[in-house]
Amino acid sequence: MVYDETDMPFTKKGVKPDMIFSPMSLPTRMTMSVPFESVISKYCAYKGIIKDCTIFKQLDRDAVKKDLETIGFKSDGSERMFNGMTGKFMDVEIFLGPNYYQTLQKFTNDALYSHKVSATDAITHQGIEGKSNNGCLKLGEMEVSVLGSSGSTEFLSEKLFDHSDKFDIYICSNCGKRCIVNDDYGIYRCNTCKNDAKIYKVPFGWANKQFYDELESCNIGCRFNLNINKKVVNEE
Ligand SMILES: [Zn+2]
Repeated sequence: MVYDETDMPFTKKGVKPDMIFSPMSLPTRMTMSVPFESVISKYCAYKGIIKDCTIFKQLDRDAVKKDLETIGFKSDGSERMFNGMTGKFMDVEIFLGPNYYQTLQKFTNDALYSHKVSATDAITHQGIEGKSNNGCLKLGEMEVSVLGSSGSTEFLSEKLFDHSDKFDIYICSNCGKRCIVNDDYGIYRCNTCKNDAKIYKVPFGWANKQFYDELESCNIGCRFNLNINKKVVNEE
């Protein structure tokens, strides 16, 4: 949220912060050097001295507390502030301190891209992620959960199957095995059942097919139990 400078809270000395953030954001990002630096540099700013406040040095907390008390603050360096919008005194203790800050050079214009058809991975047949790879914008696990919870199953199916690694396999319902099929030449054959074969076209996905291929390469046979409500492809 961006505020006008006049709306920012200020101390009794008239110091205004450039940025306000929740202290809860520091431990999760593992940036404990930020509060250390802030506390030590508060004392340094008032005294006009230079100190080493890198995280590689052991911090003497008691010495820092004493230092802050010598310049008229509480031992934790917090002070009271006034609301910039109403001018009223805020009845909470707030910590305010200087900090070195580098802006992250990340802009929407650099990250913006779109593709009608993206490049696909040779092994999984799924889209490649990333602008630099000429790839697509992939749905993450969290996006999938959100779409699932909002009931957009048709859209989910389209994104995760039709637009991803859509692939049909042919299964014989008689023995449950995959069949030898060439649609162009009209070949539909099950080597186990010969003439009794009942072959169905099943939407499957390339990565899924690959998994079953790998299982079969380990001598693990797979049988498919079809819930049949489709037309047999080899009886026309
Ligand atoms: Zn069969």
